[in-house]
Amino acid sequence: MANPGNSVVGLVELAEHYDVADLHASASFNVMRDAFHDRLKSWIRPRDQWRSINHNRACVILQDIGSEGELELAAAKLGRVFREPHLYRGRPMHLHVTAGFAELGGGNQNMTLAMRQAAIALNQAKNSSRLYEVFSPGNTRNPDAEAILLRAMDEAMETGEFNLYYQPQVHAGYNSLVGAEALLRWHRPNGEIIAPDSFIDVAERHDIIRPLTWWVIKSAVARLATWPEQLSIAVNVSPVLLLRDDIQSVVHDALDIFAVSAERLNLEVTEKIMVDNQEVVLSQLHDLRERGVKISIDDFGTGFSSLAYFRDLPVDEIKIDQCFVRNMLTSEKDHAIVKAVIDLAHNFSMRVVAEGVETLEIAERLSQMRCDVLQGYYFDRPLQVEHFEQQYKL
Ligand code: C2E
Ligand code: CA
Ligand code: CA
Repeated sequence: MANPGNSVVGLVELAEHYDVADLHASASFNVMRDAFHDRLKSWIRPRDQWRSINHNRACVILQDIGSEGELELAAAKLGRVFREPHLYRGRPMHLHVTAGFAELGGGNQNMTLAMRQAAIALNQAKNSSRLYEVFSPGNTRNPDAEAILLRAMDEAMETGEFNLYYQPQVHAGYNSLVGAEALLRWHRPNGEIIAPDSFIDVAERHDIIRPLTWWVIKSAVARLATWPEQLSIAVNVSPVLLLRDDIQSVVHDALDIFAVSAERLNLEVTEKIMVDNQEVVLSQLHDLRERGVKISIDDFGTGFSSLAYFRDLPVDEIKIDQCFVRNMLTSEKDHAIVKAVIDLAHNFSMRVVAEGVETLEIAERLSQMRCDVLQGYYFDRPLQVEHFEQQYKL
C-alpha cells in the first residue's frame, strides 16, 4: 500500500457488549460513547481527523501514512490507548475496539469508496478477532472471508436475523413527523448488531442484494400500512437493482398487497446510478415514478454530482449529505453549498431533506433556509420498530 503523503481512512468500532448491568440506561450509553471518543482523540495526531458515525462507530482520516509499517504503528497505538478499562461507577468497563483501514485516493467520491472498503476490512477484522485489517484492492477481499459472510447472510435471511430500524424524518417548519427512513441491521445470534456498511457492499457484489432488498421493501411497506396516511417511508435501493426490471413488480406487489398508496413510498438511490447504463436506469426510474413512487437522491454532493441531474433525472427529492450538514455552522463553504442545493432543488420543485442533523442550532438554521425535511440524531437515532412506534405514538 501507500506512497509517502497518502492518507488512510479508518473505521473504528466499539463492541456493544459492555460488562455492566445497566447497559441500557442512557447514562451508561453516553458514558461509553464519551469514553470511546476521548480515547480516539488521544489516539490520533493533531493533523488527523475523526468524526462520529454512530454511538459506537467513528471514522478517522490518518494523514501521511507512507507504508504498511506506519499503519501498523498507528494500529498498535490504537490497541494501547484502549487497553485500560474505563471506570464507571467504580466498575471497570472494557472498551473493546476493532478497526478497518483503507487507502484514500484524491477526490470526494474516493472518500465514499474508501469508507466502504474500510467497512469490509472492519468486518474481516471482527470475523478473525483481530484488532484491525487493511483493505487490499488486489484480492478484492479475502475470498474465504467473503464466502463465509455470504453464507452467514443466506442463513440470516432464513432465520430472520435482519431487522429494520426506523429513523424519523421531521418537517422542518412544524417539527412534526412526516415519515421514516428504514435502515437495515443484522442481529447476530451472539447478540452482536452489525451495521449495514459491513455487509451491503458484499451483498451488492452478489445476488443476495436482491432478496435482501425485496425483503426490506415488503417489510417497510407492510409496516407503513399500519401508520397514519400522512406518513411516508424511505427505503434504500442499491444502484445495481435498477439495471433489471424485477424491482418494478416487487414494488407494485408490495403496494398492492398492503393497499398502500405509492406516493408514500420513497426509494433512495445514490448518484452512482448514473455511472453506467443510464438509459436502462432512467427508464426504470420513469416507470416507478409513473406508478406514483417517489425517487430521492441520497448522499447528494458526495458522488458524481452534476447539474444535469436536476435537468434530466426523474427525481422528487434531494437528500443533502451529512458531511455538508454537519459543518454548515462552522464552515462557510459548507453553509453555501447547503444553501445552493436547497435553492436549486426548490427551483426544480424538488423536496430537500437534510441528513445528519445533530444539533438544535443546525435544525433551526436549516429551517430558516427553507429546507423541507430534517433527519438526524438531534431528533432520534434509527430505532427498533416497537420503540419508534412508541416514541411517535403510532
Ligand atoms: P444512508 O442511506 O446515508 O443512511 C444514513 C446513515 O446515517 C445511517 O447509518 C444513519 O444511522 C446515519 N445517521 C443518521 N442520522 C445521523 C446523524 O445525525 N449523525 C450521524 N453521524 N449519523 C447519522 P446506517 O444505518 O449505519 O446506514 C449506513 C448506510 O447503509 C446507509 O447510508 C445506506 O447507504 C446503507 N443501508 C442501510 N440500510 C440499507 C438497505 O436496506 N439497503 C441498502 N441497499 N443499503 C442500506
Ligand atoms: Ca439513505
Ligand atoms: Ca445518506
